[in-house]
Amino acid sequence: MIKRIMAKLQKLPVETNLKPFHKTLIEIHALGESLKLLSIEGLKARIPELDTQAKIFAVVIEASHRLLGLRPFDSQILAGLALFEGFVIDMKTGEGKTLAAAAPNIANALAGRKVYLLTFNDYLAKRDSDLLLPIYEFFGLTVGIIQADMSSDERRLAYQSDIIYATAREVGFDFLRDQLCLYSHQTVLSKLDVAIVDEADSILVDEARIPLVISGDVHQPNEHLNTVSKAVRDLVKSVDYDTDKHHSNAHLTDIGTHKIEKLFNCENIYDVEHLPLLTSVNLALHAQALLMPDIDYIVKNNGIKLIDEFTGRIAENRRWPDGMQSALEAKEGLAVKKEGQTLGSITLQHLMSLFKKISGMSGTAVLAAEELHQLYHLMSCVIPPRRPCMRIDKPDRVFVDSKTKDSAICQEIAAIHKTGQPILIGTPNISESERLHALLVENGITGQLLNAKNDQDEAHIIAGAGALGAVTICTNLAGRGTDILLGAGVKDVGGLHIIGTSRFESRRIDDQLRGRSARQGDPGSSQYFVSLTDKLFNHFTEDEFGSIKERPGELKPKVALDKKIAHAQRVIEGANLERRKTLYKYSEVVEQQRRGFQKLREEILHQNGVEAFIEDVDERWQGLSNISNDKRTEALIIVVLYNLDKVWIEYLSEIEYIKEGIHLNGAMGTSSLFGGSEPYHVFIRQAHEVFEHLMGKLKDAVVDTFNSVFIDENGIDPDSELFDMTKSTSSYVVVDNPFDGMDSQFASKIRQKMKKLGFKSGILD
Ligand code: ADP
Ligand code: MG
Repeated sequence: MIKRIMAKLQKLPVETNLKPFHKTLIEIHALGESLKLLSIEGLKARIPELDTQAKIFAVVIEASHRLLGLRPFDSQILAGLALFEGFVIDMKTGEGKTLAAAAPNIANALAGRKVYLLTFNDYLAKRDSDLLLPIYEFFGLTVGIIQADMSSDERRLAYQSDIIYATAREVGFDFLRDQLCLYSHQTVLSKLDVAIVDEADSILVDEARIPLVISGDVHQPNEHLNTVSKAVRDLVKSVDYDTDKHHSNAHLTDIGTHKIEKLFNCENIYDVEHLPLLTSVNLALHAQALLMPDIDYIVKNNGIKLIDEFTGRIAENRRWPDGMQSALEAKEGLAVKKEGQTLGSITLQHLMSLFKKISGMSGTAVLAAEELHQLYHLMSCVIPPRRPCMRIDKPDRVFVDSKTKDSAICQEIAAIHKTGQPILIGTPNISESERLHALLVENGITGQLLNAKNDQDEAHIIAGAGALGAVTICTNLAGRGTDILLGAGVKDVGGLHIIGTSRFESRRIDDQLRGRSARQGDPGSSQYFVSLTDKLFNHFTEDEFGSIKERPGELKPKVALDKKIAHAQRVIEGANLERRKTLYKYSEVVEQQRRGFQKLREEILHQNGVEAFIEDVDERWQGLSNISNDKRTEALIIVVLYNLDKVWIEYLSEIEYIKEGIHLNGAMGTSSLFGGSEPYHVFIRQAHEVFEHLMGKLKDAVVDTFNSVFIDENGIDPDSELFDMTKSTSSYVVVDNPFDGMDSQFASKIRQKMKKLGFKSGILD
């Protein structure tokens, strides 16, 4: 068994040989012996002499023992060494990753590198840095914490620290905001050296492609929206519109098209002049037919809140692309918010690549080893648990239909509940969690419900989830990073039992749920209930699972069946990886240009190279000779930055436009429009052309602005519109492809168009 696992691991980018770390570990222990006799002052006196990694680690261990009352276990020291070497460590939940990161953080900081510990959320940034603060301070190191509600002055101060605890998102938003500053003293971020990413698979893989966006300069949404939304509400499925089998795309039928055309009094909705209407109709149809309340989003405080598919939480500051967000607001009868203009954007993956060195930690890193290697060239490394995991993972119970599955789940819960063993039930979404909760109540079992609708009570509910007799129903959140402690007597009845009501599309997420149980050698158990009607199997044809789609009921446990389920998950994970890589390839083009652009902007911001423009604005420059050189230069810098930003904003919107064109083309399965070249190369060429073209206009724009702006001995009038662009901004992340492919909207447009033209459909499926 072990051999088989090892053989499997060896094929993955996973380091299984910990021998070199063990050698250092022995050295650390040897050094540690003499430290035990020192007074705390004596220990502190050693700090200036710490010239090797082993010596630093030894003092961190002793300091941790004295200051926190926690002596790091060998597994934590090994983990620390691996982190320092740049590995992503796989270390199970509850094994103490927070403390393990202290030594590598200190070793890096003492070497003069700025250290970022990127946490899963704001709460953990605070919790984890508070825990370790005494050790960091003992080493004379300063610690900064970034929280979403902090002002830019507070942020700037925090980023000055040696070690910074923050979410990757907050760092990203600060990065984007810095790109918009007109004075160098307004920027907040400092150099990005070393990062340790906690819950690395979630941040680095699941969220890799999520673009962080900063926007401003609002404009009104499409005027048609509300009327269109009303019209679409009356359309009938299978008559007026259809959806594909993956439920990832919706399109009007001919009947539906005629209805819309009649309603909006247009002869042919596919005429170019009706494009805005067609877009609104498509968006409204997607919002109506494909996005479900309590699965994809919830309505809260008169707004649309997105649900994170991996954590089941409300994803604050996350939106669909503007048009879709507005269409949803219209669907739910909410006031449609204004749409913003993108001022800057970066994906999390690109943000991470700005760090000189990254490493990470997670309880489920190995399952993402392939992705971590392909996306970041990171190696993973398994740190064995301190005590062997005692959890009993029972084989899946597989059902043909959901009804039998439901009643089996209820029976199982009732039976276990009788014994007093606490049960944590993971469901795929809010509506499922509520359905199951109701079902249990019908069966006389009251459970605690925990989902994005009441996650403010999370800490409280989780704290009780390990108590004798507790039944907790949650979406797949149940918090990364939070602890479920067992109540008195629970160990005797077998610890926490986990029931998963369906398998997720990624085995990692399944394992995260399982990992809530049997921490640190505690007893515990888990079992998944699967029905062939589950979403996981939507992607597969009848053929692949058809042979076992028989009468309703439970299927006999079979190895072949387990293999098929695992296979289904791997296929989807593989497809997701491919998609991430393709998206990355495209965004890489933009990222390279962004870097070139940023370099130029930074030079100007720090007053380098602005002289080159003086010649261009010579006339006005001379005319302002009564104004000091400093003030004139400052004014020119602002004018140049203002115009640079305008170029970049225009570039970003052009890029979106080009992408749409490429999708149209790609969706048609032909590159004839581009003379046979590959869409990717066309994209590169066009992106470069746009960039060159826009930069070519920069000089004239600078001259125009400089000539027209009001400048006196105080410099540019502070009320000038030049300062407006970035005055009010908002930052959020965008779900860039809510549906199956990022081209779905456009594919459906084309599909309709081709139908009109008499082509057979099916080309796009
Ligand atoms: P993980 O992030 O790996 O899930 P945490 O860092 O949250 O785990 O730690 C889990 C628990 O273990 C915490 O309550 C922590 O205080 C405790 N812990 C960590 N290291 C030690 C240690 N060396 N000795 C005793 N308790 C420890
Ligand atoms: Mg943790």
